[in-house]
Amino acid sequence: MGTFAVTGSASGMGAAVTARLIADGHRVIGVDRQTADVVADLSTEAGRTEATRAVLDLADGHLDGAVMAAGLGPTPRKEHLVATVNFLGVRDLLTGWRPALEAAGGKAVVIGSNSSTTTPLVPRSAVRRLLAGDVDGAVRVMRRFGPAAGAFTYAASKIAVTRWARRAAVTRAWAGSGINLNVIAPGAVMTPMLRTQLQGQNAGQLRAFPIPTRRFGDPENIAAWIVMMLGPAAADMAGSMVVVDGGTDAHFRSDHWPAPVPLRSLARYGFRFLRHDAHVVD
Ligand code: NAD
Repeated sequence: MGTFAVTGSASGMGAAVTARLIADGHRVIGVDRQTADVVADLSTEAGRTEATRAVLDLADGHLDGAVMAAGLGPTPRKEHLVATVNFLGVRDLLTGWRPALEAAGGKAVVIGSNSSTTTPLVPRSAVRRLLAGDVDGAVRVMRRFGPAAGAFTYAASKIAVTRWARRAAVTRAWAGSGINLNVIAPGAVMTPMLRTQLQGQNAGQLRAFPIPTRRFGDPENIAAWIVMMLGPAAADMAGSMVVVDGGTDAHFRSDHWPAPVPLRSLARYGFRFLRHDAHVVD
């Protein structure tokens, strides 16, 4: 049986995946602000460093898997906090845990969001700044948009974390070292986070958002997908974003995706894919 690290283990989808892994006989090292094996605040650099170190100690340098579920929803006037936890809280911990995942041939799942593909007008420069680790700069851009800053920050943090994961996943350090890193993108899922939002000022907008299956998602169902992405069935997955959102992404984007790969992407890799010995892209 394996050892898994789960951030955000105290609530919602993190708690659901923790319960499932434990029921399957695995050991889970939970990380959260409270009620967890490792209590840490991922919004601070010290908290992220401590969480990374404590998990590596408890796991004795071997992690069969990691689930990055700690995160915050769109929150007005908390742009810095949301961007930091949702982006750096994933990037920094996974970067620190990578050698332990490699040691065990492990798998990692990041919880992104379908907000990354269904929120209009998210400023690209904010996403670029986040990817460069410049949270202050990204927040400055977002705050120019007044009341939209909260929604933009959430979507930008999820776009950035998904791009970071997809870029890393296909490199020699991850896929090339036997680690399967993938992203799950839920739509609105009935967790404490969504319950809070449904009591807030944007509740009407949330309820009006089109979900073709006509129901909010269930944390247990998302946990089942994550457990699959942590198991042998994911051996051939790297950098995939699995959308489990009741059809919202397809509703808005059915004609945008799939699409031919832009030539500039091929050029970035020097057309190395044409080499028959190039199994891993760096
Ligand atoms: P939740 O609020 O139930 O759980 C999130 C957990 O993260 C909580 O236990 C919280 O304490 C922890 N957390 C937050 N800030 C932290 C910090 N600074 N340090 C340590 N832990 C911290 O939410 P959820 O709905 O289960 O969300 C899990 C993930 O899924 C989040 O990344 C969220 O953005 C994403 N997501 C949620 C929905 C949804 O509708 N619920 C949809 C798409 C994506």
